[in-house]
Amino acid sequence: MRPDESQLIAWRRELHTWPELSGKEFATTKRLREWLQNAGIRLLDIPLETGVVAEIGSGETLIALRADIDALPINETSGVRFHSRHPGIMHACGHDVHSAVMLGAALELKALEAQLPGRVRILFQPAEEIALGAKQLIAAGMLKNVQAIFGMHNEPGLPVGTFATRNGAFYANADKFIIRVTGKGAHAAHPEQGVDAIVVASQIIQGLQSLTSRGFNTLDSLVLSVTRIDGGKTWNVLPSGVEFGGTARTHDMLVRAGLEEKVRQLVGQFALAHGAEATLSWHPGPPVLINDPEWAQFSSDVAQLLGYRVRTADLHLGGEDFAFYLQHIPGAFVSIGSASDYGLHHGSFTPDEALISPAAHYFAQLSQRALQHLSARCCASTPTETH
Ligand SMILES: [Zn+2]
Ligand SMILES: [Zn+2]
Repeated sequence: MRPDESQLIAWRRELHTWPELSGKEFATTKRLREWLQNAGIRLLDIPLETGVVAEIGSGETLIALRADIDALPINETSGVRFHSRHPGIMHACGHDVHSAVMLGAALELKALEAQLPGRVRILFQPAEEIALGAKQLIAAGMLKNVQAIFGMHNEPGLPVGTFATRNGAFYANADKFIIRVTGKGAHAAHPEQGVDAIVVASQIIQGLQSLTSRGFNTLDSLVLSVTRIDGGKTWNVLPSGVEFGGTARTHDMLVRAGLEEKVRQLVGQFALAHGAEATLSWHPGPPVLINDPEWAQFSSDVAQLLGYRVRTADLHLGGEDFAFYLQHIPGAFVSIGSASDYGLHHGSFTPDEALISPAAHYFAQLSQRALQHLSARCCASTPTETH
């Protein structure tokens, strides 16, 4: 039996009205626990202040589903009736939608519990936006004995009813960098008495743009953006230092390592040429998300069967901490169309709620079929395919 669509939408709206930042999802956690427990679904103990892990079914065969539950420091401008009541915080990435989808999947799986050939563990993961929650749940042992994991992100650029995924690399290595240039402050009228950190920083920024376009194969997937500059306080003083930073996105570990090394060299050499000093700190974010080819195909086949229009997803330059799970166990991450005029992380982002109920049904069906597939693979004398 499928859960009532209006119930799933009501839950999504309640989460949307009361969004919480990464690692601070206390009320969200309380609500999720109540809704799951009221449906008779068992919860596992986890050593985290936020996040919920539920489990349905019994037996050795075990798969996992994952929803993320955190919101962003963004002021909502969507104009919806159930807009955020926490000023400056908004579910602008649709994690409220993802949570409602997995709640719906949990309810449908609960109704099928007696027939399930194994267990489905559902991770309502905190702190995705700061790439922390997946690592915390892994450290808490939540992947132990899990044979495959599945998750989704809504995709505003795709119509509702559309499904997309791809084999291998999908989301990017999403790294952060900070560059600090130290020169020598001086009167603005006498630059010859100092070392102009602003000029050095400007040249490094220009150099970085040439480096990515000239220093790598055009077919390598990479982008480097400087997103902030901080230096100087007034009009007639050359500051002694400038700090700037941004992000680098790649889909290949070798390209990622090569980019960091080349940026480090460029920063050092430009500074040296001007008699300044400069340092680079590189902060690796979530790694490239690599879908298991077999499970990506399996996920697409089930989507097709349930009536989704299935596409091969393009490479995505966003980061997604689901990638950490896939470093440990196989699985697949998929995109489901949410048809919003405004994109993710925008104050007017408005996903179409019509995606929720079909996606919940999809993940319940995917889970059931994945368990059947794994049970058949493990115990049959001759392996049989169920897809
Ligand atoms: Zn996001
Ligand atoms: Zn997101």
